[in-house]
Amino acid sequence: MGEARPRNINERDADDAVTARVYLDWNATAPMAAAAVDAMADAARGWANPASVHGEGRRARGVLERCRADVARGLGCLADQLVFTSGGTEALGLALKGVGGRLFVSAVEHDAVRRQADGADAIPVDGDGVIDLDALARMLADGPALVALMHANNETGVIQPVAEALALVRAAGGRMLVDAVQTAGKIDLPAADFVAVSAHKLGGPPGVGALIVRCADGLQAVQRGGGQERGLRAGTENLPGIAGFAAALADRADRGWLAAAGRLRDRLEARLTAAGGQVLGAGATRLVTTSCVRLPGVPASTQLMQLDLAGFAISSGAACSSGKVGVSHVLTAMGLGPAAAGEAIRVSLGWTTTEAEIDAFADAWTALAARRRAA
Ligand code: PLP
Repeated sequence: MGEARPRNINERDADDAVTARVYLDWNATAPMAAAAVDAMADAARGWANPASVHGEGRRARGVLERCRADVARGLGCLADQLVFTSGGTEALGLALKGVGGRLFVSAVEHDAVRRQADGADAIPVDGDGVIDLDALARMLADGPALVALMHANNETGVIQPVAEALALVRAAGGRMLVDAVQTAGKIDLPAADFVAVSAHKLGGPPGVGALIVRCADGLQAVQRGGGQERGLRAGTENLPGIAGFAAALADRADRGWLAAAGRLRDRLEARLTAAGGQVLGAGATRLVTTSCVRLPGVPASTQLMQLDLAGFAISSGAACSSGKVGVSHVLTAMGLGPAAAGEAIRVSLGWTTTEAEIDAFADAWTALAARRRAA
């Protein structure tokens, strides 16, 4: 018997019960674009080490540099500002560990920032999870720092006032790192000194990302060795992955789907609010693809399990790599107590999400809320 073909998470097939499922966890990862899979296969077939001087190597180098130019165009930076990495986490680590000096990170950063930011001071946020710019200004009054501020939050979708923060940081002579893992391919990226992105959130493969480096002064490599990526990130380049990244970004060039996703997100939130849900971060500007909703009295773990059994793949913002649901540092920084923070789920939409899927999810969640009220 032949092995079952690995399934794209968003693939549907009439005679397979699993594919009747609804995937609403796009912030965790997005299904790979067909164009990305094809580009990876092409690059893998013609694979040679881009550092080799022979014809095959030179050809691979040519593919790599074409992909670099394509990714740069897609992200709005210059090709020679891109340092390819193994993903968002490594890109963030390069800036966080490679710059040195004082470090400020917002209280709602992803763990990929928080856990690589030794000795950092936290910048507080308000009840919607938006950074307190006055507090940042006070912190910068003592001198420059590297400031890490995410573009949009992975749990709530809240978009930070990055341009305003950047002006404060620049005025103080500091530098800024923006975690744009959730926004690349969706909204224009800020022109910060360092911007981290990841391919698997935008239809590319996992294990590839990049750090946009606009100001390399004093930046030390974390991963050292063969001197690739202008000496800033050693290791043979993942050419198939980078080709997939470039193809996925090209696929995302048309952002028309976001308007439809925004209407679906609003439709979803209207239904869930009417059924007793509380939308978190609702007072802030948010990425239209993310909704963080609390159902008072019902732990997120219960919601996740019941909805999973009903065929819906969603997440709690604080799901960790072990799959357990913890208490979200994002929601607690926004002022929620641990119990309330533990009652929030995250629903995230993507370019293939349909109205029928959103309505089916809202039906299931409303039924769950009604059952809990009756219990
Ligand atoms: N930053 C944010 C906001 C994320 O959502 C994630 C992944 O979930 C990361 C960083 C880490 O990116 P990667 O999985 O590419 O290492």
